[in-house]
Amino acid sequence: MSTPAVPSPVRPAFLGGSKQLFIGGRWVAAAAGEEFDTVDPASGQVIARLARGAAADVDRAVVAARAAFEGPWSRWTPLERQRLLLRIDELMLKHAEELASIETTDMGAPITRTRNTVKWISQAIRFFASCTGAATTTTASNSLPGNVMTLNHKAPLGVVGGIIPWNGPMGGQWWTIGPALATGCTCVIKPAEDASLSILRFADILAEAGVPDGVVNIVTGYGSEAGAALAAHPGVDKISFTGSTETGRRIVQASAGNLKRLQLELGGKSPDIVFADADLDAAVPGAAMGVFANSGQICYSGTRLFVQRSVQEEFVERLQRFSAGLKVGKGLDPGVDLGPLISSRQLDRVMHYVKLGGEQGARLAAGGRRLGGELAGGYFVEPTVFAGVDQGMTIAREEIFGPVISVIPFDTVDEVLKMANDTEYGLGGGVWTRNLATAHQVSQGIRAGVVWVNCYGAVDPAVGFGGCKMSGYGWKGGLEHVESFLYRKAVYMNIAG
Ligand code: NAP
Ligand code: MG
Repeated sequence: MSTPAVPSPVRPAFLGGSKQLFIGGRWVAAAAGEEFDTVDPASGQVIARLARGAAADVDRAVVAARAAFEGPWSRWTPLERQRLLLRIDELMLKHAEELASIETTDMGAPITRTRNTVKWISQAIRFFASCTGAATTTTASNSLPGNVMTLNHKAPLGVVGGIIPWNGPMGGQWWTIGPALATGCTCVIKPAEDASLSILRFADILAEAGVPDGVVNIVTGYGSEAGAALAAHPGVDKISFTGSTETGRRIVQASAGNLKRLQLELGGKSPDIVFADADLDAAVPGAAMGVFANSGQICYSGTRLFVQRSVQEEFVERLQRFSAGLKVGKGLDPGVDLGPLISSRQLDRVMHYVKLGGEQGARLAAGGRRLGGELAGGYFVEPTVFAGVDQGMTIAREEIFGPVISVIPFDTVDEVLKMANDTEYGLGGGVWTRNLATAHQVSQGIRAGVVWVNCYGAVDPAVGFGGCKMSGYGWKGGLEHVESFLYRKAVYMNIAG
């Protein structure tokens, strides 16, 4: 049986030129008329200029979002919003290849990954479409004595600000847009300055699918300008943020003015724990790609890889071999497993940690170098493995956000759980074992919002994930996420004559 031919990715026509802000259903220049360059991280070449939105633009976008919230959009029924979401899904799938190649060119991930992202978004959109009725249904109760009937409503919060990181913007925006469209909220999206293009391309798809003007607005620009203005804006009812813990803290402070609701998904330093009884054929690639996927630029990457001492040597050897077999290259090239890092700033950050790892006594077992040759213009780093890492070393404590694994040996369950939880973060975790009791004990024992057993990194939009400790609060995915875009209202009604 022949497999269907996979198309060769093409450089999308959308790239190039100047991109504007999307406010009230129209493309407009930033009020100050300023722009900045955005680059392809695989080459360092400028691929477009973005509007440098700032406070005045955020204000315009919030006014447009408020007007849309109070306009005809507020009278759309749940089934009409559901149909809209399904139309977006259909239209997006027609543009799947274009969207995937824009995302790859803008933020570097291999085209195989961004094609999967489009499939994942399709699932997410259909999940949000399935929630429109359930999340907003009004129920009645009559448990009070007398003739009092109580109506329990759930009403949309209003204008939601979505502040999106660069590590997967096309999918990331759906954690804001999906629940907003499902509930009848409106939103203002602030993409990351390093990767805004897929979000901008999506705006026209949303409009063509019938999203009313002002329901989704996009203000590109710098975090310290557009982002900070959105987080502080008194006309914004909620902020949905993904990014660093440090910025998350600033957003909490900025939100205090009008007591915005917040959903914060922040950094991580997640433990992934391999027991000697694990199926190593599955655990080696699974744990490796639990870090190397997206070149390590995923908040829940299992970067602290605890390996039981009796299999440690063999495991590190197999990790070395696996890493050496990975192809690092430009995301549009066929067969590439790891693309570049997002920026030269991120490259410097990762190389700084690699240097520290060596200085603090960890053994470099694989990788550790920036790639040159025809990749010298981009921000490429080899998949890197440090062995013999100690919990106290900086590379085992701080989030690197690059393709760097720290292998830490352990002996017992109690010992590894103590080390796994010895972190300020609590986002993800993993365990590899054939023993159900061990899997249960360890998954219960890890203090994190999501734990994977004999796999790593899958996210079901219908279930979702979240963090505890300094990885933030508020859940992404599932009905609970949709409901966090609503507020509750009880109406006590005396229905006596
Ligand atoms: P970041 O600064 O937290 O950026 C995330 C988003 O927040 C971007 O849209 C950013 O805009 C915006 N932002 C920045 N300062 C802001 C402010 N004062 N108020 C409101 N919004 C603001 O993260 P980063 O600089 O891209 O990366 C730094 C580190 O964050 C990474 O190395 C990694 O450790 C972590 N990170 C985590 C995730 C995750 O998924 N949890 C994702 C990305 C990064 P600009 O891009 O324009 O600055
Ligand atoms: Mg870019």
